[in-house]
Amino acid sequence: MRVLVTGGAGYIGSHTLLELMAQGHEVCVVDNFSNSSPVVLDRVRSLSNGTVISVEADIRDRAALDDVMDSFAPEAVIHFAGLKAVGESAVKPIDYYDVNITGTLCLLAAMDRVGCTRIIFSSSATVYGEPVYLPYDEAHPLAPTSVYGRTKLMAEEIMTDWTSARPEASAVLLRYFNPVGAHPSAQIGEDPSDIPNNLMPFIAQVAVGKRPHLSIFGDDYDTPDGTGLRDYIHVIDLARAHVAALDYAARTTGARPFNIGTGQSYSVRDMVAAFARAAGRDIPVQIAPRRAGDIAAMQADATRAATELGWRATHDLDDMTASTWAWQSANLDGYGTH
Ligand code: NAD
Ligand code: UDP
Repeated sequence: MRVLVTGGAGYIGSHTLLELMAQGHEVCVVDNFSNSSPVVLDRVRSLSNGTVISVEADIRDRAALDDVMDSFAPEAVIHFAGLKAVGESAVKPIDYYDVNITGTLCLLAAMDRVGCTRIIFSSSATVYGEPVYLPYDEAHPLAPTSVYGRTKLMAEEIMTDWTSARPEASAVLLRYFNPVGAHPSAQIGEDPSDIPNNLMPFIAQVAVGKRPHLSIFGDDYDTPDGTGLRDYIHVIDLARAHVAALDYAARTTGARPFNIGTGQSYSVRDMVAAFARAAGRDIPVQIAPRRAGDIAAMQADATRAATELGWRATHDLDDMTASTWAWQSANLDGYGTH
């Protein structure tokens, strides 16, 4: 299939490009490189030995999108492009609504113009909010607690309304849990431009000596060791979920959400211990206050993805930490572009 990938130079997008090309799909990336670099696409090209068409453009630039739709004529779109920092979304809500909502509207309008009717969307487990029960299934109430989470839920609703108005259209809403890990080549991985917000890249930077210690945000949660529990998913498994979602979109219509997680959860201390094993060195930690807005525990019920997409995670915690360590230790400054 010809697949247009917005945000394809980003962390999850770049891994997904490789999985798509490995399955024979043709790819075209639209990215404004606001949180990534063209260097990533060069690495994807050399790893795949394939063609990655790349267009530097903002997804809110309707004329640029129309040009890409005309020249590439995609049969499906995978929509990664967006802003993703929960804390920042409280400080810059207008930017978040603009990129994540206006950008999505612009994309759907450009798809409509050329009759492209399949979209795979990067949603997030944050759409659920404070758990009423765990693991979350897709029927769990939706009550996001951040601006970021609300943009994801609104975008899901927009795509759902779009499919209602277009009986031939399909929107696959992938609710990611916590993506971590890197490509086995150690050439592609997560490269935060600033101090990492997320646990795994922070631990990785402590392990290579870029930061003195990890602050554990709270050890007094109602969890077995007092630290937060999350459902971490290897980015390669997540990338493969997009390939499965493309097949699903080709044989179905309507909008459907899917949890993309492993169904297992690990604590912050579990992650530190696993990383120390992978790196063969201690990870110094300090206990810090809870982070505002954090939830004690999150875990996916990923049954629907298994039964309907035919997808399940195959990588375990040691794969996640070992691949992150391999990437970070081989690329001390990530792609070296910040
Ligand atoms: P990322 O920042 O690495 O990738 C996003 C890409 O989109 C970047 O290459 C960036 O340059 C591009 N981009 C941003 N704004 C753009 C715009 N206006 N026009 C064109 N390109 C633009 O993020 P990621 O971790 O790969 O996440 C991809 C998607 O998955 C995002 O939508 C994110 O919200 C969602 N998601 C991520 C996580 C996570 O923990 N990483 C969890 C759940 C959902
Ligand atoms: N966390 C932490 N220290 C950090 C970053 C994160 O203790 O420097 C904890 C955080 O409180 C949560 C878990 O690690 O319990 C995962 O946080 P992350 O930001 O990676 O993901 P999210 O909060 O979005 O699930």
